[in-house]
This record gives sequence, structure tokens and C-alpha cells, in this order.
Amino acid sequence: MSIEAFYRDSWVEVDLSSIEYNINQLKQRLRPDTKIFAVVKANAYGHGDEQVAECALRAGAKGLAVSLLDEALKLRDAGIEAPILVMGWIRPGDAHVAAERDISVTVFQADWVKNARLSPSAKPLKIHMKWDTGMGRIGIRTTDEMDELLSMIHKNKLMELEAVFTHFATADEEDYAYYEEQQKRFDHLFSHFKRVWSRNVEIHTGNSAASMRFPDHMKHFVRFGISMYGLYPSGVVKKERPIDLKPAFSLQSRLIHVKKVPANESISYGATYQTESEEWIGTVPLGYADGWIRKLQGMEVLVGGKRHPIVGRICMDQFMVRLDQEYPVGTMVTLIGKQEHQSISMDEVADYLETINYEIPCMISYRVPRMFVDHGNIVEIDNPL
Ligand SMILES: *Cc1c(COP(=O)(O)O)cnc(C)c1O
Repeated sequence: MSIEAFYRDSWVEVDLSSIEYNINQLKQRLRPDTKIFAVVKANAYGHGDEQVAECALRAGAKGLAVSLLDEALKLRDAGIEAPILVMGWIRPGDAHVAAERDISVTVFQADWVKNARLSPSAKPLKIHMKWDTGMGRIGIRTTDEMDELLSMIHKNKLMELEAVFTHFATADEEDYAYYEEQQKRFDHLFSHFKRVWSRNVEIHTGNSAASMRFPDHMKHFVRFGISMYGLYPSGVVKKERPIDLKPAFSLQSRLIHVKKVPANESISYGATYQTESEEWIGTVPLGYADGWIRKLQGMEVLVGGKRHPIVGRICMDQFMVRLDQEYPVGTMVTLIGKQEHQSISMDEVADYLETINYEIPCMISYRVPRMFVDHGNIVEIDNPL
């Protein structure tokens, strides 16, 4: 645990107690024998992968899931010993790296098994076989492909089939029809699998949406991503609210300059904003290099518990807000999160940018330090600079 200093007044606050709360909420909804993989790909959706992974494991997650072998290695290097699954494709030439570090990998190509570079002295490589039941991204689609792949794995003494899995494309939508079609295709592939493969494997199908909405369809594991961070996967699921969630992520800054500007003066590059009358203008030290992109011009931020609009173009490192009154330098600015009775949610920022909430924390760059808070105490600060 390190408390490293940072020298700028902009930071992300990650509330680890919210992550623990969200995992406990899901546990209560799932059958007691369904376990949780905490999905911590993409630096834990921008929250901070090592800290979230450790928190999730303490809260009862039984394993971790990432997209890249590099992400898995970073967690192993941090001393995490729990099972880790790489859900994306890795190069067959890198298979020995995964085996040496006891990292499970996703496989769906017979050629991959043929070309995998493995050392006979290491422990066998753990494989999760991916079935494409309608996502159309990665995975085998037919029983013929399954047979070919299984016979290759069977012949290879350096590999061990640990699990089979699939991924749903529409589990967060109002209409269940396509989800049910994928479920049906999975059952069809699985009944074939049972006939040709005698050993036990684990099964995992659901993401956040499927695990919260259809807990009785879930098998040995679920892969819990967006909702572990306290966000609903879609507006539909948010309305249904199968479990209560607490957002973990907030984005904070402070006013570094406050001035009274006369009427008809311009603010920022391109002089796109003119003051209508005498206005209080505040400067905030955060910009598009931090992921607060130029499209957010016009979005509101919280100062003194009230909403204030971003005026003029957002610069690389700074932007300006129109204030309703004078505030002292150092006043807190909340871009995502709560101040008194007001709040700006991740969903509101996503709506403003016409995108999904998943994209927002991922877009806040590594230049912004992450401050980890647990039950009100700062437990760690991660400043990659
Ligand atoms: C990202 C991902 C998940 C997690 O999805 P959420 O909607 O964030 O819960 C699960 N499975 C796979 C294969 C993924 O790529």
C-alpha cells in the first residue's frame, strides 16, 4: 500500500467499499453455487486494476478476467495469486508465458493449438474454450469445429481444458428473444460436448446484465464487469433494477483561477463563447489530454453544490466554467459524482456524448491520479506519472 503524492488538483476517487457492496448485492441474487469472476480488463474500466482486483477478491470474487495477456501479467506481477482468465486472443507463440504464470487463456482455433509454444517442464496451460452463440466476435460456431478443436486439445499433454464459455450480445435489452436464441445454441453445443468429452469442465456464460437479470440461468461462474463498478449495463436494466448498485468512480478538481469578466468578452480557443453580461469565470485544471474531451463543451459541472456550464472550447489541460458568483480559488469542482443535493452521474455524461456509460471511466486517461478510498479513508493513491 503506497500513498504517493500528486501535484495537481484533479483526481479520480474510487470508492472500494462501493465495489464490495456491489459484489455482495450480486452474491445475494445468484444461486449459492454460482461464483464470480471480477472483470478488471482495461485497468478495471479505468478505475485501477490492481486495487479493484484485490478488493473484489476480498469481497468474495473467486477469480479475475481481463482481455490481454499483458493485463494478466501486470496482476501477477502485483502478487495476485487468484485464477486469472484472458478472455481475448493471445498469440500461440506466447502460450508458454501464460502457462508459466498460471494464467488461463481463451482458445477457439485448432490451428492455435497446433502452433502453441509450450514447454514440457511447465504446468499444463489452462484453456477456456470459447463458443460463439451469436455475438459474432470470437469462438467456435459448429459441432464440427468443436470436435476438431477437442481432439487437438485431447492429444496435447501440455494443455488442460478447464472451462467452456460464451458471451451474450443483447442480455441488457428489453426483448429477450435473441438472448434466448443464444441460450438455445449454447445448450445445443453443450449437449454435443457432453457426449464427446467425459471430463468435468466449468461453464460460464453471463456478463453483468445476464447475471443480474437471469440468475437461475447462470452456471459455475459469471463474469461481472460494469455493475461491479456500480453502473447498470443499459437504461432497461437500470429501470428494472434487479439489484441495488453504488457507483465507485467520481472525478474531482478544484478552481485554480476565478475572475470577473466584462460583457462581450471571449473565452478560450476560437473565441466561440462571448459573455452576455458581466460574468464570473472559473478555470479548471483538466482537459482533453485527461480524457475530458472537447465534445463535453456545454456539459455542466458542480461547484458549491450547484450546476455550472463549461463555456468555450475545452483545452488540452484546462477548461472554463461560468459561475453564478465568486468562489475562492481551491473550491472543489465535481465533474462526475455528488455535491450536497446535486449529482452528475456517469450515465448523464454518457448521454451527453451519445455513448454508453462503459466508455466514460475508460476514457479518463492515466494522467489523472486515482485515489482509493475505503469506508471513508484514503488507502492508496496511484499516480502513474
Ligand atoms: C467485458 C466482458 C464481460 C463483462 O461485461 P459487463 O457487461 O461489463 O459485465 C464479460 N465477458 C466478456 C467476454 C467480456 O469481454
